[in-house]
Amino acid sequence: MGYFSGKQTIGILGGGQLGKMLLYTTQQWDIQTKVMDPSNEAPARIACNHFIQGDLMDYDKVLQFGKDVDIVTIEIENVNTDALMELEKKGVQVYPQAEVLKTIQNKCHQKQFYQKNKIPTAPFQLFESKETLKNAVARGRISFPFVWKSESMGYDGYGVKIVRSNQDLEQIKEGGCMAEELVNIEKELGVIVCRSPKGEVQCYPCVEMEFHPEANQVEYVLSPARISKSIATQAEKIALSVSNAFQHVGLLAVELFLTKEGELWVNEVAPRPHNSGHYTIEAAYTSQFEQHLRALLDLPLGNTANKVAGVMVNLVGKEGHSGPVYYKNIEHILAIDGVNPHLYGKKETRPFRKMGHVTIINEDLKVARKIAEQVKETIEVIAK
Ligand code: ADP
Repeated sequence: MGYFSGKQTIGILGGGQLGKMLLYTTQQWDIQTKVMDPSNEAPARIACNHFIQGDLMDYDKVLQFGKDVDIVTIEIENVNTDALMELEKKGVQVYPQAEVLKTIQNKCHQKQFYQKNKIPTAPFQLFESKETLKNAVARGRISFPFVWKSESMGYDGYGVKIVRSNQDLEQIKEGGCMAEELVNIEKELGVIVCRSPKGEVQCYPCVEMEFHPEANQVEYVLSPARISKSIATQAEKIALSVSNAFQHVGLLAVELFLTKEGELWVNEVAPRPHNSGHYTIEAAYTSQFEQHLRALLDLPLGNTANKVAGVMVNLVGKEGHSGPVYYKNIEHILAIDGVNPHLYGKKETRPFRKMGHVTIINEDLKVARKIAEQVKETIEVIAK
């Protein structure tokens, strides 16, 4: 195949922490890489062969970037898909495929895709503007409460709002959107599926995401999830059907809601490495990043099973702190057995900004979860 000759180049659009972690494996396997990111101080910059500063939504920049690489992949969904389509026409392998990315980029199209493919998801109605949504509310076609979601990509909950009153409704952004049923959530689950060009598919075990009550950001990811075997199997089956419907290449992280009534609904997907899969670096036989590369290169996919239980803690910037980052008490957490910190290399911290994560591995998930709490209480991401 010749992929290890050092002559093939993978282009990665986005140079954040996901890109940086993808480069652990390209370095291990001696694969050439080129990264583009709008920031000159992108975390992935230190580990790639070539770095280009550029706007990922700029057609010409993305086209230019992809022209001299063999494979283009992404670590963020907000990229110019028209340029990716043009690159595909020119024979560049683009994974995930431009068409897949285009559907996923628009939350409303994503929901319609689930509906069309009979994938269970929360009931919803689409609106082309804030005005039409307001009219529907005024005419009693929708009632409070509901969840408003902007069609354009939000990140970490910024394009999502629970609407309980006309006052809340006034505060939502303009633009195409959906009103989704407010789900009575028992647990939020995640299943990462990987698919290679020849159609080999592997699925990681179902994980559980525990949310920070105020910030609405994932605080812990637990692998395996604390759910019955039958729910885990059902979640994995649904994730595989989503993967099959998209026919994507590379990773597809499927986020699901387990409702209080015991139903499983797909919330959204990401066709790239995902926060819910960071635990795989230490806890699984194959890390999600290595798995993604195996798929891009059409190599056999790796074993997705866990070697041990894993709990991941996101390290986010402390409230009230903005400025040069300092990881206070990191030496204390390093003294605990099974604790693996990852610092992303972002120079500036801001409240709730993802600055790193820590994976705790242990034979016993309960012990790992306890240590995770200790880690969370000890380490502080502050400005110096
Ligand atoms: P983002 O793409 O910004 O991460 P999500 O659609 O994943 O947005 O929503 C963020 C969080 O908001 C979810 O993880 C969940 O906690 C909550 N949420 C989203 N949709 C619903 C819903 N229909 N009912 C209840 N909570 C929801």
